[in-house]
Amino acid sequence: MLIKYNEPLANHTTFKIGGPARRLLFPESRAEFLDTLRDCPDALILGKGSNVLAPDGGVDKDVISTLLYNEITLDGNAVTAACGATLATLANFAAENSLSGLEFASGIPGTVGGAVRMNAGAYGGEMSQTVSSVEVYSKGEVLTVADSGFSYRHSRYVDSGEVILSVTLTLTPGVTSEIIALQQEYNRRRRDKQPLEYPSAGSSFKRPQGHYAAELIDRAACKGLQIGKAQVSEKHAGFIVNLGGASASDVEALMALVSERVFEQSGLVLEPEVVRL
Ligand SMILES: Cc1cc2nc3c(=O)[nH]c(=O)nc-3n(C[C@H](O)[C@H](O)[C@H](O)COP(=O)(O)OP(=O)(O)OC[C@H]3O[C@@H](n4cnc5c(N)ncnc54)[C@H](O)[C@@H]3O)c2cc1C
Repeated sequence: MLIKYNEPLANHTTFKIGGPARRLLFPESRAEFLDTLRDCPDALILGKGSNVLAPDGGVDKDVISTLLYNEITLDGNAVTAACGATLATLANFAAENSLSGLEFASGIPGTVGGAVRMNAGAYGGEMSQTVSSVEVYSKGEVLTVADSGFSYRHSRYVDSGEVILSVTLTLTPGVTSEIIALQQEYNRRRRDKQPLEYPSAGSSFKRPQGHYAAELIDRAACKGLQIGKAQVSEKHAGFIVNLGGASASDVEALMALVSERVFEQSGLVLEPEVVRL
C-alpha cells in the first residue's frame, strides 16, 4: 500500500490548502481498506478533498485517502461503487451503460463516499434520489444501511462517523447520447457560472431555506472581498477562491466576515458547507 509520510494536505485538497498529515495511506482494495481502518481507528477519511478546509498546521493523525479504492460494478440497473470512485467516473460509467440518474453529478469533483456523506447535488438532482444502500464500517463492524437519513446537504453519516465503504445506486434505463448531452449541458453551465480557474472547495455556505447563499453574499456587498489570498469570487459570490498561497486561516477569517455582513444585512445565519478537516 502506498503510504506518504508528513504529506502536505494542500497536495490533496481542491483548495490547495493544508499542512502535513502524519501519514497519508492509500488502501487499494476492500480488504486493505478494512485492515487500515482497523489498524488506525482514529484516522481521518479523505476523498477527493473537494469539500474540506485542512488546517495550516496539518493534522497530527493518520489520514486515509479513499482514492485508490475505486472499483465500479454493474448488476442490471444497479451500480455498486467503492467509496473512492469519483463522481465523474461513475457518471461516465452510467452513461456508457445507458443508465440515467447521475447526469447532475458528472461535474461535481468529489468521490461517491464524500458525495453520499453530504448528499451532494446540483441542477435539481442529489445523491438521495439514486442511492439504494450503503455499506459502512463502524467500530469494527461492516453494516449495510438502507436508510441514509438524507436531507439537504446532510445524511446520517455526518453525525454517525460511520465510514462509507461502498454505495449501491439504482439507475433508470436511458439513451447514452441523451445522457451525455445532458452532462455536457450541465458542465457548460458550470464553466459559465463558476470560478473553475481558481482552487476552491465549491460553495462555501449552504443555502438558507428559501434563499440562495450567493445572492445574500452579493447583496451584503461581499463580492471580491479579500483576506490574505482568499477571495469571495468576483464571478460567483457563493465561492471562496484561493488566489495563490491562501491559508486556512485566511479562508476562516473571510468566512466569518462574510457571515457577519450577511447577518447584518439580511438577519440570516449562513451555515458553512465546507467541512473543517
Ligand atoms: C469546483 C467545485 C464545484 C462543486 N460543486 C458542487 C455541487 O454542485 N454540488 C455539491 O453538492 N457539491 C459540490 N462541490 C463540493 C464537493 O465536490 C462535494 O461535496 C463532494 O461530494 C465531496 O466529495 P469528496 O470526495 O471531495 O469529499 P472530501 O472533501 O474528501 O470529504 C468531505 C467530508 O466527507 C468525509 N468523507 C469522505 N469520504 C468518506 C467516506 N468514504 N466515508 C465517510 N466519510 C467520508 C470526509 O472525512 C470529510 O468530512 C464542489 C466542489 C468544487 C471544488
